[in-house]
Amino acid sequence: MSATLRSERIALDPPLPAALRRDVEQGVYYCSDLIADARVDRAAGAWIELDLLGVSDAELSDLTRVVRDWVERTVASSLAYEDTIAREWGRPEAGFRATPEQVLASADLHSMGEGLVAYGPRLASVFGALRELWDRLAAEVGATPLVLPAVATLEHMQRCDFLRQFPQLLSFVTHFREDFGVIDRYAEACRRGDTESACAPPAQDMSSFRRMLRPAICYHVYPCFEGEQLAGDLRLVHAWGDCFRYESRNTTGLDRLFDFRMYEVVALGSADAVHRWRSGMMERVVERFEALGLPGRLKTSNDPFFVSGSVLKSTFQRAHDLKYELEVPFPNREGHLAVASFNEHQDFFASRFGITTRDGEVASSGCSAFGLDRILAALLVHHGTDVNAWPAPTRQTLGLNT
Ligand code: ATP
Ligand code: ZN
Repeated sequence: MSATLRSERIALDPPLPAALRRDVEQGVYYCSDLIADARVDRAAGAWIELDLLGVSDAELSDLTRVVRDWVERTVASSLAYEDTIAREWGRPEAGFRATPEQVLASADLHSMGEGLVAYGPRLASVFGALRELWDRLAAEVGATPLVLPAVATLEHMQRCDFLRQFPQLLSFVTHFREDFGVIDRYAEACRRGDTESACAPPAQDMSSFRRMLRPAICYHVYPCFEGEQLAGDLRLVHAWGDCFRYESRNTTGLDRLFDFRMYEVVALGSADAVHRWRSGMMERVVERFEALGLPGRLKTSNDPFFVSGSVLKSTFQRAHDLKYELEVPFPNREGHLAVASFNEHQDFFASRFGITTRDGEVASSGCSAFGLDRILAALLVHHGTDVNAWPAPTRQTLGLNT
């Protein structure tokens, strides 16, 4: 029997500032797993409306309090800091050639639920072409390739100070304890059972959690340089692969995935050199987007915050212009999709991994991160689902000519 759904509107007084409306709409799901859908009053910030699963009146008052407290905490700990648009290009008014629904329905995109997608041969070749385009860009700036694991130890991610900042995104990896009785019992239950629950192992049979799935590429780069003194002014590497973020109910079949592919170029060097590299990188990337026929904008940004502590990071990032995001117009609620970010970490990672410049100072680092699935999604909604009918310059940029 399915749980009943009720909609409740929670008044917000004072109203939610405009800059926080989207983050609150997307973050409120982490308040309770009974929240099935959420809408914030985007015009005035005067309410948040929740669709709730099987919630009694008594539970509703508790949940309302939890949500109000969380919203209050979010507002109190953020600074009124408007994002600034550094650059805008292309003609967004050119319009979209496909809706996200049409893209999802295309025969070559296999959405498997839970934020998992697979691409059939035609889209896989576009995906490959996109990756090669980024390989050429990485080679142009002098980056060398690395191959990195998709799993990270908790010890490592704690060293990177990731765990306390974004706990809601984490996905842990575990396995059976070394106990043949336990393992055999499980195999037997699976042999007999035909339901998902029969195959869900009991928590006490599992080992303690020591590993997680990586949420981004660059965390594994720093240990590759641990204790090193850099020979030149700037050292550049690149790597790509699957990254994992638990996005709760925000997960969509196309652009907000649990398992998505990220391409990163990472820089280590003097603060000046990293800063100059990031500016040059933004220039080159904007050129690539223009060549792909994708309009967009670059704006200062910050990482969303959910727990106290990470607020410091977002405020700091905004105040120092440490994060820029590249957004492409997209037919979603925001009207835009963030497809890439350009980050400066100052000495945050290099100090933790003992990486120094050739002058013996603690090095700086920076990364530019590209969401390959999102760039593919942007190409499909802007140019249509028939790849053969894409504009000639787009196909040429991707080397897709027949
Ligand atoms: P960090 O600062 O932790 O290294 P990052 O800057 O490498 O993070 P983000 O800016 O958070 O990473 O993400 C990089 C890109 O990855 C985003 O611009 C976006 O295109 C893509 N991305 C992020 N989350 C998702 C998701 N859930 N599904 C698909 N693509 C995603
Ligand atoms: Zn990064």
